[in-house]
Amino acid sequence: MKPKNLGKWRRTHLSQEIDSDLAGEKTTIMGWVTDIRDLGGIKFFILQDFSGTIQVTAPKAKVGKDILNEIDSISKESAVAVKGEIAKADQAPRGVEVVPSEIRVLNPAETPLPLDPTGRVKADLDTRLDARLLDLRRPKPQAIFKIKHGAVQVIRNHLTSEGFVEVYTPKIVRSATETGATLFPISYFEKEAFLSQSPQLYKEVLTGCLDKVFELGPIFRAEEHDTRYHLNEVISADIEVAFSTKEDVIDILEDLIVNIFEEITEDHEEELETLEHEIEVPEKPVPRITYDEALEKLNDAGMKLEWGADFSIPEQRKLREIVGGLFFITDWPTEIKPFYIMPHEDDSKLSHAFDLLYNEIELASGGTRIHQRGLLEKQLKNKGLNPKRFEYHLKNFEWGLPPHSGWGLGVERLTMALTGAENIRETVLFPRDRKRLTP
Ligand code: ATP
Ligand code: MG
Repeated sequence: MKPKNLGKWRRTHLSQEIDSDLAGEKTTIMGWVTDIRDLGGIKFFILQDFSGTIQVTAPKAKVGKDILNEIDSISKESAVAVKGEIAKADQAPRGVEVVPSEIRVLNPAETPLPLDPTGRVKADLDTRLDARLLDLRRPKPQAIFKIKHGAVQVIRNHLTSEGFVEVYTPKIVRSATETGATLFPISYFEKEAFLSQSPQLYKEVLTGCLDKVFELGPIFRAEEHDTRYHLNEVISADIEVAFSTKEDVIDILEDLIVNIFEEITEDHEEELETLEHEIEVPEKPVPRITYDEALEKLNDAGMKLEWGADFSIPEQRKLREIVGGLFFITDWPTEIKPFYIMPHEDDSKLSHAFDLLYNEIELASGGTRIHQRGLLEKQLKNKGLNPKRFEYHLKNFEWGLPPHSGWGLGVERLTMALTGAENIRETVLFPRDRKRLTP
């Protein structure tokens, strides 16, 4: 069967817009065929579109032979357009169906399909990701991306209403911001360049002119992780605020996170139901403990951690049991935080860095930044980085860059928290990990 063009056909209703009050009206619907049945005197199929599903019912006594033949020839997941009449039908889902007068197969799907479109036959994650288009037609993956979209909207609206300016910084860069070990090199004409690990340096500079900035954009990490929480390309929601300290930006993050949970609970009830996931809006104030307090709690609970140790999943899981779901850890050892974090004035082993944790995952990291050129150069050297490579960045610190603070929030980790997704790959349309570069 050859694919057909739309011609003059246009969609008049989404499936969810069709209800029994419209009985008797004409409609043109477009979408994908997910299930086809022949019950003897009646043939029907389920047409699915972005909004939901609608049953298309062809009673053999009522519709023409050409329509019945057309239905017989349709394969599941084919894109189709149906013209017909809306009818009340007690036995159909939502009590309504469409009786077709004309069917146009816009693009027939090849059989066999790699996935069962109804989801009745379970597929593993790799198979699903390989056939992501088909996978994303199903309600659960769709619900995840509707919630992710909702969360990004809240971030954008919330920060805009707080006076932030949305910015876009380069993703092709000359030097590292985190550690040199996790950079993806690219060839940039005759120079060496890298994919950006974070908008860190640019957003800091922008506090010297735009005051409060945020960016929603990709970050690239050449980490060889193979965990449920790491990918090599993710979206980061980043902010940076002039004339502020970590306490100020912790407050901003706290308000934002609570706002996101509130709005998602209110506006995405249907998606949360589809995902069979319940979320609780966190209460303010979100607990804040220092690194030293966290270490003490962990060691009291039987762990044997030296001062200066970073926490990973086992420690974070333990802290979840002791402290609770959502909490901040502040004042980390300088040694395990990036070069741009401000050390304590009276004890340079400690820094003004913080993390936000939700259950056992780190959602965000931030802190007060260094705004003195001399100190920044010293910290670069301490981290084994060459200040010469940062000369363009360091120059800004001679031009009155204000004291500033900020954070980066992982949008996919946030989406995991909101949707209950067990694997971060579920929250990215086309994930990039160590083994996966396609599709
Ligand atoms: P982790 O310790 O969990 O590997 P990180 O401390 O290296 O994360 P940051 O540099 O602090 O990450 O980045 C800020 C936020 O961006 C993180 O808290 C996380 O939400 C997100 N993020 C960073 N790297 C990744 C990654 N590889 N995969 C998923 N999210 C990431
Ligand atoms: Mg971090």
